[in-house]
Amino acid sequence: MNGNISFFGESFPLEMHKVRIVQKLNLEPIEERLSAIKKAGNNTFLLKNENIFLDMLSDSGVNAMSDNQLAAMMQSDDSYAGSKSFTKLENTARRIFGKEFILPAHQGRAAENILARMFVKPGDIVPMNYHFTTTKAHIVINGGSVAELYLKEAMNLNSANPFKGNMDTEALKNLLEKEKGKVPFVRMEAGTNLIGGQPWSLQNLREVKAICAEHDVPLVLDASLLADNLYFIKTREEAEKNKSIEDITMEISDLSDIIYFSARKLGCVRGGLMLTSDTKFLEQMQELVPLFEGFLTYGGMSIREIEAMAVGLDETMDFDMIKHGPEFIEFMVQELVRRKIPVVTPAGGLGCHLNAREFIPHVKQTEYPAGTLAAAVFIAGSVRGMERGTLSEERDKDGNEHLAEVELLRLALPRRVFTMSQIKYAVDRIHWLFENRNLIGGLKWLFEPKILRFFNGKLEANSDWQEKLAAKFRADFGDSL
Ligand SMILES: *Cc1c(COP(=O)(O)O)cnc(C)c1O
Repeated sequence: MNGNISFFGESFPLEMHKVRIVQKLNLEPIEERLSAIKKAGNNTFLLKNENIFLDMLSDSGVNAMSDNQLAAMMQSDDSYAGSKSFTKLENTARRIFGKEFILPAHQGRAAENILARMFVKPGDIVPMNYHFTTTKAHIVINGGSVAELYLKEAMNLNSANPFKGNMDTEALKNLLEKEKGKVPFVRMEAGTNLIGGQPWSLQNLREVKAICAEHDVPLVLDASLLADNLYFIKTREEAEKNKSIEDITMEISDLSDIIYFSARKLGCVRGGLMLTSDTKFLEQMQELVPLFEGFLTYGGMSIREIEAMAVGLDETMDFDMIKHGPEFIEFMVQELVRRKIPVVTPAGGLGCHLNAREFIPHVKQTEYPAGTLAAAVFIAGSVRGMERGTLSEERDKDGNEHLAEVELLRLALPRRVFTMSQIKYAVDRIHWLFENRNLIGGLKWLFEPKILRFFNGKLEANSDWQEKLAAKFRADFGDSL
């Protein structure tokens, strides 16, 4: 792994920051954890933050901000139009990405709404390395469909491929030839979220761009998870290892006709941005931003967030800043692998992904292995993860369950939020749970919403396995939490 090797040979990542503002955490006894997860209908989305020790639900809008970001927020220039703060953000984004036009949106999916309205007509096909939920929804609602051109390796949960996020360029060529005129743009997603925060190589992006150029189709980059992808290009791609983060970013930007991102991830604030140098794209965006987001110098964002985003983007060019997430995730993945606990490899950029099918092979897919593992991990450690499996799917028209291809429990590591001892604690409790995995049973519905059931749905254990698990914990841990 990367990270630091101590004099005595142990390897571990090092925090290149100090903590100067803290938030108190509660670690409640297991009996309280059991009652909290039951009250939440075994749905981690419905837990209350005050009952959670380590919140690993998401990396969205919960990354740590720096002292300089907080300071910048204090001097924001609030005005409906022509705010100095937005000019600052424009100048920073121009310098980093080399794009002339910078347009705001209140978050990533808002940018996706605007791009889908600009580009997608009924019958259109948008090729991409992999979809993201909100991206796909906006394309589909405008009558288009998504073609996922990922490598076979992307679905291999235990792979040695450093760039599982690469696009299959042969498939792209074939699709652009076969579907001439039906492809409004090609989309590449940095740090491919739904396959586990997996990156693509700069070389792959160059090849994708060359094919797009040959067919005169614009390349759109979703840069929400760019920070992680930059780190992986620098550390895993031999030909790029001597380039600065600035230079890699500029080359990625030069290859992209439009860039958009969720600043809830990139820049560690709450907002979004779109960038291009092409006036024909600018003109269309300029019409839609005031309609859906707000005037062109705030776009639905608070001016404070705009100030902090300018600083956050600059800080993203600092290797010490962007390495923290991937190195801590790598450390956690390696610790789990060492304990023979099934986890997705290689480590990606978002968090750790436990493979629930292998963790609890005795739980049937119709009893929601990833969902039940999420509940069990919360009971064992007060650690909140997110189910990425069958619960997150929708039933078909006839009400049949659509079984997910993979059953994962995502444990996100918001950037610069957790310390080493907290990661070690999480690994320890997951290890204990793994030793006691035979106690884990399945879940069944109490209340199943028709749409997006994973957000609001409630479930219950299909036996008294949760009480038995809590009792075993109490017996093993004595008085400690
Ligand atoms: C989070 C995310 C989005 C959506 O951004 P929001 O700010 O949550 O609306 C889009 N694409 C990717 C890759 C993301 O990770």
